[in-house]
Amino acid sequence: MKRRSFIKLSIITASILLTNSIEASSLKETKIKRTNILILGGGFAGLSTAKYLKQLNPNLNVTLVEKNNMFISCPFSNAWLGEIDGISYKSLCFDYNSAVLKYNYNFINETILDINKDKKIVQTSNQILKYDYLVMTLGIDYNYKKIFRKNKEKIKEVILKAPAGLKPGSELLKLKKMIENFKSGNFVITLPKSSYKCPPAPYERACMIANYFKKHHIDGKVILIDPRVKPASKAKVYLEAFNKDYKDFIEYKPLTNFKDIDFNTKIIYTKNFDEKSNKYITSEIAFEEASIIPPNKANKLYKKAKIETYTQGWVKLRKPTYQTLTDENIYVIGDAQGEYPFPKSAQMASSCAYILASDINARINNEVFDYKKNLPGNVCYSILTQTKGAWVSHKYEYKNKMIAISETSSLSKENFTTAKDWYKGFTNELFDIKG
Ligand SMILES: Cc1cc2nc3c(=O)[nH]c(=O)nc-3n(C[C@H](O)[C@H](O)[C@H](O)COP(=O)(O)OP(=O)(O)OC[C@H]3O[C@@H](n4cnc5c(N)ncnc54)[C@H](O)[C@@H]3O)c2cc1C
Repeated sequence: MKRRSFIKLSIITASILLTNSIEASSLKETKIKRTNILILGGGFAGLSTAKYLKQLNPNLNVTLVEKNNMFISCPFSNAWLGEIDGISYKSLCFDYNSAVLKYNYNFINETILDINKDKKIVQTSNQILKYDYLVMTLGIDYNYKKIFRKNKEKIKEVILKAPAGLKPGSELLKLKKMIENFKSGNFVITLPKSSYKCPPAPYERACMIANYFKKHHIDGKVILIDPRVKPASKAKVYLEAFNKDYKDFIEYKPLTNFKDIDFNTKIIYTKNFDEKSNKYITSEIAFEEASIIPPNKANKLYKKAKIETYTQGWVKLRKPTYQTLTDENIYVIGDAQGEYPFPKSAQMASSCAYILASDINARINNEVFDYKKNLPGNVCYSILTQTKGAWVSHKYEYKNKMIAISETSSLSKENFTTAKDWYKGFTNELFDIKG
């Protein structure tokens, strides 16, 4: 079946099309025979929730709304940047149709514009959708204003010339071009102080760019500007790779804050605390290319929908559940969650998706679901060199609050193979790929 007609059919079966104005007072009520569960955002969290809901209860009317017409993976994108064998751009790209056909939910390929939680409706670029339960899995947005305030021109320039690369698509393609055209000098990556999507990703990216420079004998160095005292994740293995494998290719600058970038003079300004003089000192770093990762926050739609968030922008939840503090019929999982010590990873999103699907299914059947006895787990792999990888795992206990217990592996060839197997297994399952 052609994609267009397939999606059209999905929309019809969704039977939740209402009117074309969110403010319309005379909404025509469709006869709801089955519980309508609307999932906003078709990233790893949304796709996994749709899959598990239909697996647990095929009778549920599950609809996924996503603005992109194809899925591009962030996991393994650094390996593609670093030219790791077997990782092509194609291996990051997947079609939504296969996932939808395999698990039999509805898919609407439109942009979500607004949510009215009092009327339990969602406005997309094309229609209004009604829900009984809303699952919001819209991921992150960048908070450039936090660094550059109201300097819109500067923000525009940074987005175009020094992309953060935490979102797939154009940002990643631009980074690839910057790496492939690199002749010599410094490639600077800056990290925000506050929490961001995928804690190990910038360190993995530094390794992968350095791997490319090493492989192609490029006289370049990756400079990593980090406000932390050590890498945010897998610190031991990253420091080992920086100091041994990439001694001449990576310079790690801990306890250093990014302040500004000047694209004319090609200078990055940083600030760090000097213990000797007991003062903050400003330094200048020359760069050829740069990737500025600004502070992250939850997608702007959460704020628009008046869903309560913490100062940084992550969504507040009703402990120990994934229901928002604002509305018990609206759930949030994935990168936008703010309540628990969950790393912002695809595997974590998938684990939470199973728990969430179990809760919604129990609620529909008037059963009680105990989050304290259903805790998620995480394993996050990183590729650090042409042949070696490592992982960090998280398991949880609930003792008045969520407690994380984490473990980090060593850097090894075996972990490199397991990382590739994880990616293949995870995406094959989600997108119905055989073999
Ligand atoms: C470089 C990199 C490497 C990573 N490596 C790993 C790894 O090895 N293992 C791992 O577990 N995790 C990894 N991650 C983390 C992982 O990618 C994220 O944690 C995961 O994607 C979070 O899923 P999500 O569904 O919450 O958000 P997303 O995947 O960001 O999905 C949000 C979705 O919402 C859609 N959306 C947003 N706004 C709208 C709108 N208005 N209308 C319609 N749709 C909208 C977006 O298009 C998107 O598809 C990595 C991340 C990066 C950046």
